[in-house]
Amino acid sequence: MHIKTGDTVEIISGENKGDRGEVQRVMRSRLAGRQQGQPNPDGVRVIVAGVNIITKHQRRTGNVRTQTGRIEREAPIHISNVMLICPSCNKATRVGHELTADGRKLRRCKKCGKTIE
Ligand SMILES: [Zn+2]
Repeated sequence: MHIKTGDTVEIISGENKGDRGEVQRVMRSRLAGRQQGQPNPDGVRVIVAGVNIITKHQRRTGNVRTQTGRIEREAPIHISNVMLICPSCNKATRVGHELTADGRKLRRCKKCGKTIE
């Protein structure tokens, strides 16, 4: 898994393409994809703060990122539709993994080469 809670990601496809937000939750579900008609029912989904807002009972007003009125909430986005934003170079990037000498796993930005978090 290359994306974790607290990461900032950019949406790379769909109607929210280009939006950025913080990952609030990573969800692994076998059924979620099937229920929502996605091609990959085993996919991992993420909740991204302020992105892919669905509104119940009330029309969206003004800035969709505002947290007022808890009728609006974020719907999960398939992980293949988001890319990690590197905190060092601020670009949507792929990440590489490597192990440190003491066995911890590190993520590294493939664009600027910096270690992530
Ligand atoms: Zn970078």
